[in-house]
Parts: sequence; C-alpha cells; structure tokens
Amino acid sequence: MAAEIIDGKAIAQLVRSEVAAEVDEWLQDGNPRPGLATVLVGDDPASAVYVGGKQRASAEVGIAGFDHRLAADTPHDEVERLLRELNEDPAVSGILLQLPTPPQVDGPALTELIDPRKDVDGLTPISAGLLAKGRPGLRPCTPQGVMELLRRHDVELTGAEAIVVGRSDLVGKPLAALLLAANATVTTCHSRTRDLAEVCRRADVLVAAVGQPGLVKGDWVKEGAVVIDVGTNRTDAGLTGDVEFEAAAERARLITPVPGGVGPMTIAMLLRNTLQAARAA
Ligand code: NAP
Repeated sequence: MAAEIIDGKAIAQLVRSEVAAEVDEWLQDGNPRPGLATVLVGDDPASAVYVGGKQRASAEVGIAGFDHRLAADTPHDEVERLLRELNEDPAVSGILLQLPTPPQVDGPALTELIDPRKDVDGLTPISAGLLAKGRPGLRPCTPQGVMELLRRHDVELTGAEAIVVGRSDLVGKPLAALLLAANATVTTCHSRTRDLAEVCRRADVLVAAVGQPGLVKGDWVKEGAVVIDVGTNRTDAGLTGDVEFEAAAERARLITPVPGGVGPMTIAMLLRNTLQAARAA
C-alpha cells in the first residue's frame, strides 16, 4: 500500500480537545456556557445512538446539553412549538433536529424554522445561502470535517482539480462550495454523470459521498491523488465506504479509511459550530 492513511479519529480527538480548551477560555472570560439542544422524535435506535454520542461529546468539552426526546407519535405542531422555544432560549446556542423524523412530522420543514444563528447542522436555507455567497455562517458538519482533514494534512487546494461524487444538501453540495471557496476547480458528479470513471481520473482530490459500497474503483484514482471517502455503508462485511479501499490506496497519496476517516469528524465539527454559534450570539 502506497498511500498514507488519514487518521480521522486522531484528528477529531485533536479538534475536540481544542474546542474544550476554547470553551474553557470562553467561560473564564465570563461568558455564558454554550448549550446544544438536540431534538429526537421517536425511538429509531441508530438515531438514538447518534444523538447520545452528540450529547456525550458536548458534555466532554464543557457544552451544556439539552436532550429532548419525544415520543414517536408526537404531532408535528408540538415539535414545532419546542423548536420555537429553543430558538428563544438564551441558554441554547445550537439546535439540532435529528433526521429522519416519523411520517407525521415534516423534518425538513421544521429544520427551516431553526434560527440560522443556532443552525449548528448548517442545513437551513439561510446557512446554505450564506455558504453559496461565501459569507460567514454555520457550515454543515461533515463537509467541514472533510475540509479539516485536508487542512491538517496541508493538502494544496488552490488550483487543484477536486471531484465530488454526490450532490446531496447534506454532503456533496456544501462540500463542493467549500472546496470552491478554497480555490479548487470543482466538479460535482451524480447519478446522471456520463463516464464517471474518466471524470474521477482527473481528480487531485477525489471525494466520494454516495452511499454505494465500492462504487469508486481503484483504477479511477489518479496516481498521487488524495481520496476522501464519506460513504458509510453497513454491509455483511461490516462498515465500508464508497471507495475500493485497497486498490485505491495503491495509487493515492493520502486516503481516508472507513471507519475511522470522515465519520469521527462530524461530531467534532458540531462541537466547534456550537461554540461558534455561542460566540456570535
Ligand atoms: P444521498 O442524499 O443519498 O446522496 C447520494 C448522492 O449520490 C446523490 O447526489 C446521488 O445522485 C449520488 N449517486 C447515487 N448513485 C450514484 C452513482 N451510481 N454514481 C454517481 N453518483 C451517484 O446521500 P448523502 O446523505 O449525501 O450521504 C452519502 C454517503 O455519505 C452515505 O453513505 C452516508 O451514509 C454517508 N454520510 C456519512 C457521514 C459521516 O461520516 N459522518 C455523514 C453524512 C453522510 P442524484 O442526486 O443524481 O440522485
């Protein structure tokens, strides 16, 4: 294997200790403790694990937690009422509505109600617009995590050919915007892209954010490229990414594993966003 492995777990831990130190300093300066409110509707076990992880990580860095768990049959209006209360609550710096929600609750519509100043997931239209315009704001956590991995490895982005496979609002689109803001030449690919393999072969930085195990083949990777695998697929063989890891690692210069690459960065960036929101309040 030629590539150096990007250790997302270690970098995430570093970010978390930096945030802990910054929260400490912020409190010592007499500022109020940052707070993260999470709202989980229903009892989806995976969502409960995610929310639990976010709350535990917040507590570890000194961020106050407001862990709202609502029954699966909670009406839409009741969730809306809670979000409006959290918008007004000065102890809450950041609000996160865990998606997906049960069918009677319109999760995407409710996400839009979150005060953009508290939008620590960076998913409201205002946050997306600020990002598109290159204005300061809260950015989605996973794409920010990818940028942080690239930054910590001193990956030169100016003028680099960056290919992002996937165009979701959660990952692909915001990541493409962040790479563009970092002066990369960005191409976004999706399910209708013609000759994906050839497009990927151009990449200095190749990001896969699709959700299909092994979609990106090793020979789609240019020699010396940086490969970031956002894909998180539960298969019989365990958790795997969207990239054929072994074959891609033969050609790449740097590559993220799955698990242990991008995954751990998301919560770390959520903590950083919560502190940023507290500072801007
Ligand atoms: P998504 O909303 O399902 O979007 C998938 C994207 O992939 C779409 O834009 C789709 O294109 C594109 N696509 C599908 N099949 C394709 C193909 N054959 N060739 C090229 N593009 C194709 O997924 P997402 O939320 O962005 O998540 C992507 C992956 O990242 C998932 O595995 C998810 O679990 C993972 N993820 C990980 C983290 C983390 O590590 N913390 C966070 C978020 C997501 P169309 O738009 O044309 O349909």
